[in-house]
Amino acid sequence: MKQIIIASGKGGTGKTSISAAFASLTQKAVFADCDVDASDLHLILSPKIIEKENFVCGKEAIIKPLECSSCGLCYQLCRFEAIVPNTESKSYAVSSIACDGCGVCVQHCPEKAIDFIDKESGMCFHSHTRFGPLIHAQLYPGGENSGKLVSLVRKKAIELAQASNMDFILIDGPPGIGCPVIASLTSCDALLAIVEPSLSSLHDAKRLLQLSKHFAIPSYVVINKWDISPKLTKIMEAEFQNMGIEVLGKLPYDLVFTKAMIKAQTIIEYDSTGEISQTLRSIWKKLIHKNEYQPYLIKKEGIL
Ligand code: SF4
Ligand code: SF4
Repeated sequence: MKQIIIASGKGGTGKTSISAAFASLTQKAVFADCDVDASDLHLILSPKIIEKENFVCGKEAIIKPLECSSCGLCYQLCRFEAIVPNTESKSYAVSSIACDGCGVCVQHCPEKAIDFIDKESGMCFHSHTRFGPLIHAQLYPGGENSGKLVSLVRKKAIELAQASNMDFILIDGPPGIGCPVIASLTSCDALLAIVEPSLSSLHDAKRLLQLSKHFAIPSYVVINKWDISPKLTKIMEAEFQNMGIEVLGKLPYDLVFTKAMIKAQTIIEYDSTGEISQTLRSIWKKLIHKNEYQPYLIKKEGIL
């Protein structure tokens, strides 16, 4: 079973639309949406949730009003400004979003009036889609440790792929190069970085590719919306060549992506014979061939 991650370094490059397009070109695959801070693959894949599980991470303080003497010590000690005073009622409460779970207030409360409970930071879902199973998640506002939630999504995707004898896992990765990206990238078999011709995208993609090099993951690039700056596209192609990274394809700017998304369809479903769909098929075929995944190509799309 192979794991392919589609990532971008920078948000807004079209990564999810391209991931969804590849999802419609696969068979025997589990899809994993690891962009847990702003997941949106579900907007195109329209999943039907089969199972859901709370994601518990860290602790949070809760003041018990009946036992609190309103001494204000917790308010003075909290370095995260998570204790909120109510001047009218002369009481104190904890802001769940601001509470870092350090436990200082719990330790020092003279009345032992503060509970310290497990913090529910999000949800993890196992869903059915028209292309296959999807593992996805939602991080609640203020929920921390999205890297751990990503690890949970990946663990469940691997378990499901193994139990269902799937051929591979297609991962929609988070932007950036932080903890969630590292959690998404480790032990993958290939990275496809989606970039657009802008200096910020080039900068962030280079950091992502350096990270993948560190993990010895074979990496490739797709330049999306290349025609908004042919000059910058040329510069980027030269930069990637210097890094030894192959550009598997270039996609022009086209509103057809937006039109497909409005209809909750992949670009392959919306405009199967269009230029973008043909280019995406070609990119997918190259990616599969690069990684010797020929047996996993779909015959229904006639890629082979
Ligand atoms: S330290 Fe304890 S008793 Fe004092 S205000 Fe905070 S919760 Fe209430
Ligand atoms: S646990 Fe720490 S962050 Fe949370 S309210 Fe208490 S002192 Fe503040």
